[in-house]
Amino acid sequence: MFEYAEALRQDISNHLDWYMSAVEEMYRNPEIGNQEFKSMALLAGMLEKEGFEVETGYIVPTGFIGRYDSGKPGPTIAYLCEYDALPEVGHGCGHNLIAGIGVGAGVALKSILGQIGGKVWVVGTPAEENFGGKVSMAEAGVFDDVDAAMMIHPSTKNGLGGRTNALNPVKFEFFGKNAHGCRPQEGKSALDAAVLTFTNINFLRQFCLPNTFIHGIFRDGGQAANVIPAYASLEYYFRGTTMPYVQELTEKAIKCAEGACAATGTTFKHSIYECPYDDFVINYTLAGLLKEQYKALGLENIEEVKEQPAGSSDIGSVSYRCPALHGYIKIADACVAGHSREMAAATISPEGRKGLLDAATALANLGALLITQPETLEKVKAEFKKSISELKK
Ligand SMILES: [Zn+2]
Ligand SMILES: [Zn+2]
Repeated sequence: MFEYAEALRQDISNHLDWYMSAVEEMYRNPEIGNQEFKSMALLAGMLEKEGFEVETGYIVPTGFIGRYDSGKPGPTIAYLCEYDALPEVGHGCGHNLIAGIGVGAGVALKSILGQIGGKVWVVGTPAEENFGGKVSMAEAGVFDDVDAAMMIHPSTKNGLGGRTNALNPVKFEFFGKNAHGCRPQEGKSALDAAVLTFTNINFLRQFCLPNTFIHGIFRDGGQAANVIPAYASLEYYFRGTTMPYVQELTEKAIKCAEGACAATGTTFKHSIYECPYDDFVINYTLAGLLKEQYKALGLENIEEVKEQPAGSSDIGSVSYRCPALHGYIKIADACVAGHSREMAAATISPEGRKGLLDAATALANLGALLITQPETLEKVKAEFKKSISELKK
């Protein structure tokens, strides 16, 4: 068994009630993306109490960073916390538990850092669901000198993570001319342009690469049935395996809108209405190390790295800057849906508590391993460099 494993698990066990009380507080007071001021203050306060040097409002208004430097040379290990909730279902994605896991891992690793050297950061990355705190932080260079950035997300399975899709959120706005519904010849329907665009984009699907997802909604479609709408809008998510492909797809969708406007005599403009997310660059070495940690903790049915992209996350941007890990820990049965009230409730259940203990222990051990085994860290970094250089070809 790894030399520090017992000490790390013990540290997390000792603090577990405290971590769970923070998870419960966020559960009871869910804050949506970019509004997580109370959650930020709660987590930053915990790190401060544990002797981290903390900055709040870091890069983005609800971001934070807690740094601890052992004063001895060594790598920088970053644990990522999310803490944004969702409208209607509160912490239905379980980000309150991610925060508890990140703080728990960071505090535990800090407790042995004097012996092993290096630095530990706990980074509060807000607004994962829509505005991508990690994207702003990655663009600001926060992760450029980090040796590994790691987090574990609650789930219905224990897993090593996998590919995520690049995502481009595009809004189309159409401009026509109002007229009385009984004198439509005097107007130009922005709604018709939106409907045709929606239909045209549907025809794109047959010609997309596998693992492409296009989902759109009508945001505005007019105000009254007897008025020809002068304004309509659509909001889309275009997702695919890489950002260049998603941009290519976006260009094709713009052509769809051009055709629709030519047909209806209207005009349109398009814009990026939320934060675009990069795809996730898997680090198989880190994923393999997580598997060993999970096994050592006695976790079963560990899902291997998933090659099939599922969803998108702002950790994609981090994974282009440093080796990154995005694992999963089981806290609910398979019948529990993500983004549901049931998943939110699972974060404060006994399974959620065990999930926090296991995930934080695995991450703390992994961090300690990367610091104490330079050859393992070298392997992680070599893989990262190779993956990025291949992607840039
Ligand atoms: Zn999530
Ligand atoms: Zn989510």
